[in-house]
Amino acid sequence: MRRGGGAGAEGSPTRGGGGLQGDGQAQAALLKGQDEGQEEPDREAGLRLPGLFSPPQPEARGGRSHAAKAQGEEDLKGDGFLRRVLRGAQGGDGLVSWQIAAIGEVRGGRVHPSSTEVLSRARELGLEARLFAVAERGEEVLALPKGSVLLKTAANPISSLIPLARVISARTSPSGEILALPSTPFGKALAGTLSAVLGLPLVADCTGLEVDGERALLLKPSLGDRFSSRVELEGTTVATFRPRSFKPMELEEVEPEEVVEVEGALVEVLGRREKEGVDVKEADVVLVAGRGCRGEGELRLLEEAARLLGGVVGASRPLVDEGIFGRERQVGFSGNVIKPRLYVSFGVSGSPQHQAGMRESGKVVAINSDPTAPIFEICDLGLVADCREVLPRLLEKLKGR
Ligand SMILES: Cc1cc2nc3c(=O)[nH]c(=O)nc-3n(C[C@H](O)[C@H](O)[C@H](O)COP(=O)(O)OP(=O)(O)OC[C@H]3O[C@@H](n4cnc5c(N)ncnc54)[C@H](O)[C@@H]3O)c2cc1C
Repeated sequence: MRRGGGAGAEGSPTRGGGGLQGDGQAQAALLKGQDEGQEEPDREAGLRLPGLFSPPQPEARGGRSHAAKAQGEEDLKGDGFLRRVLRGAQGGDGLVSWQIAAIGEVRGGRVHPSSTEVLSRARELGLEARLFAVAERGEEVLALPKGSVLLKTAANPISSLIPLARVISARTSPSGEILALPSTPFGKALAGTLSAVLGLPLVADCTGLEVDGERALLLKPSLGDRFSSRVELEGTTVATFRPRSFKPMELEEVEPEEVVEVEGALVEVLGRREKEGVDVKEADVVLVAGRGCRGEGELRLLEEAARLLGGVVGASRPLVDEGIFGRERQVGFSGNVIKPRLYVSFGVSGSPQHQAGMRESGKVVAINSDPTAPIFEICDLGLVADCREVLPRLLEKLKGR
């Protein structure tokens, strides 16, 4: 029942996301393997989109002698896999080496982990990288990596997107820099603003980053994560990354190298309401209820089990459509893509649309009364059993720990 041997073995581009984080040789083999694969016209057709971006007139980059130029794009056809080349902004001096500017909001004193994950990936690749931490004035920042820039906004950072874009632009390279943001509401909003204001290409929702000399590639899942495209960059580019795409990084408690007061806000914040509900995207453990586990009693036990495991409860789409759970809990193609350390499903059949949202999870455990359920084809551990019997026993075990 274990999932297959990974991207290298099966040539599965989606599992290749993990492969990009391996050692240099394995990465080279993976990239080569994809290029040498069979012709797959459907994949290519699926990815032949009419352009990833349509840049408006870019603003001149602050403090630079040349304006950022978005020069359009072109498709390069490899042997069997589409490679899209994005011509980002290129400085007149030509590209020397790639750098990473990881930009992330501060929440509860901590920078969003996805931003520090990108930094850890940059370190693995031996790239120069810097963190831009964005915090509302007055918010305490508990830990930062060395060399960070702290950008303080007058109000909620989401109200200062354009001023933030200008400040970041003045401190980043117009040639070979990847402006990396987390795939969070704030990260996506700032990424779009950076792209629009500076006329830079934007690659959204990436899961991998590979840099080899002058060649920089982003891995971007598409079509419900069943396929991946590798996007080759040719200049400064904005990219958002899914949380948990790379290894986390421990932060030292150091002072920022530079503190910038970002002036100007587009909106005035009149009040604040804490976000309700759980975040299945960031949880370490997710127990997912499907149509085979929807009774009130079972769901109560499931919530209790999730609490004892330090996790949260997610749901398949039918339970959300029925109004049993809010949309923020839905796992799958039209819901959330999750990547917890442990995913356990209860009465979920494992439709392709559901798999699109959980395929990248660490350990996958499935409980289903039907031995032919598709979820068993992709799980690490499967139990053919009735949830109503399993849940009370699971709780008993958890309480006895
Ligand atoms: C465009 C589109 C987007 C979609 N997006 C999503 C999405 O984001 N997420 C999503 O989940 N779905 C999505 N769907 C729906 C998807 O196709 C499936 O219908 C859905 O995933 C099925 O949910 P399920 O596994 O809970 O239910 P079912 O497919 O009905 O499976 C229930 C399972 O429970 C098992 N079972 C029954 N009783 C028990 C018991 N007592 N103990 C143990 N097992 C039991 C059954 O054997 C069965 O395998 C989408 C569909 C479309 C067309």
